[in-house]
Amino acid sequence: MKKPTITFWGGVGAVTGANFLVDMGAHSFLVDCGMLQGVHGADAQNREPFAYDVSKPEALFITHAHIDHIGKIPKLVHAGFAGTIYSTPETKALSEFMLADAAHIMEFEHKEHGKPMLYNTDDVSKAFSQWKTISYHKQTPIFEGLSVELYDAGHILGSSMYYFTLTLESGETRTMLFTGDLGNSPSALLPDTEYVPSVNYVVMDSVYGDRNHEPKTEREAKFKDIITDAIARKGVVIIPAFSLERTQTILYELNNMIEDKVIPLVPVFLDSPLAIRLTNIYEKIVTLYNSDVQKDIHGGDDIYNFPKLKMTAKSDDSRRIHLTPDPKIIIAGSGMSTAGRILHHEAMYLPDPNATLLLMGYQASGSLGRELQDGAKIVTIHDQQVQVKARIITIDGYSAHKDSEHLIDFVEHMQDDNLRKVFVVMGEPKASLFLTQRLHDYLSVNALAPEKGRVYELD
Ligand SMILES: [Zn+2]
Repeated sequence: MKKPTITFWGGVGAVTGANFLVDMGAHSFLVDCGMLQGVHGADAQNREPFAYDVSKPEALFITHAHIDHIGKIPKLVHAGFAGTIYSTPETKALSEFMLADAAHIMEFEHKEHGKPMLYNTDDVSKAFSQWKTISYHKQTPIFEGLSVELYDAGHILGSSMYYFTLTLESGETRTMLFTGDLGNSPSALLPDTEYVPSVNYVVMDSVYGDRNHEPKTEREAKFKDIITDAIARKGVVIIPAFSLERTQTILYELNNMIEDKVIPLVPVFLDSPLAIRLTNIYEKIVTLYNSDVQKDIHGGDDIYNFPKLKMTAKSDDSRRIHLTPDPKIIIAGSGMSTAGRILHHEAMYLPDPNATLLLMGYQASGSLGRELQDGAKIVTIHDQQVQVKARIITIDGYSAHKDSEHLIDFVEHMQDDNLRKVFVVMGEPKASLFLTQRLHDYLSVNALAPEKGRVYELD
């Protein structure tokens, strides 16, 4: 009798591009279908056809709405995937904006620079016609031999871990956990990552498998000090921010600082149409936040809104931001300064010695954000040379991923005789191998960093 297998078609040897296939013989399913991002040759790899028969899997389970987990769903549907897509309701809602935005950028790049498109807006609509939602903690049958329960991963709003129960032809059962990305708990907004019951197989995140973050209290104090200092210097603070979760975290913390009167009231601009749309979704949620945030909401606080906050969705309003005298704070995308409105602000303010550029997210090598972080004195923006005289400051504790210490802790909580194997994925090779070694050395867990395209038996 055939044993179930798992094949890793993406998200191995790299942080991004998660795509895993579980074959149970008569049935099969996929977990995540993400875009490869920020590595050399990513565009070409994203264009390659899927290496497996996409018409066979009956289901695709989506862990959360980041593009490196959802970015290739419309391409999969276009290629013939006719199964059902499952996620939490929040992941579905956020994905609609994320995928529409990605298709819009692709259309622009296609028109302006002749870049081939991965899919079009029709493929995006088709994907959503196949999409169903499952809430946390509801044991849900999917097809004969497979049921699933979702747990909160605490990574971004709606992020989930999938706990599958596979019933084999022999009647025996096997359990499998796909963590997706695991949150950097405690987060400003979300509850902590849930611990899960005893399980046979785990497929887990390892982005920060070899590094630890500064703790929450430290990062918050640093953020407050930087803002206070920049305002005292009467300069502008520019924050390149990811539109999903990071922007909302920054707004929430600014809101608290302003209410607690730890910083003076200065104009704050949220200059990103996508971030504004996503913040609207975050505003409608109450029950999925951590208890502190829920208390704020029940106490009547509009947690993403405060005096002098301006949302500049229209490009005309964006272009007028510089007319507002300093000090002021500008939050804009993209988070690594690779595109978007942040570039206009950087071109204008980087030559200003009173300005502060605050980097609060991961800056991939090769990005403008990384060049600035590494201390470049002259950079090129929109084909113009720009002198860098502004202060460049990094706070790395705002990462949305668990660090090495907490990844170990997560596994330790479900370690027992049932645990057969941990597949360490979604990290650069160095991080994945380091975590694999640590799981082995500290917990005596059978851990391995799988190879792309190789079939692993789940015995
Ligand atoms: Zn993520």
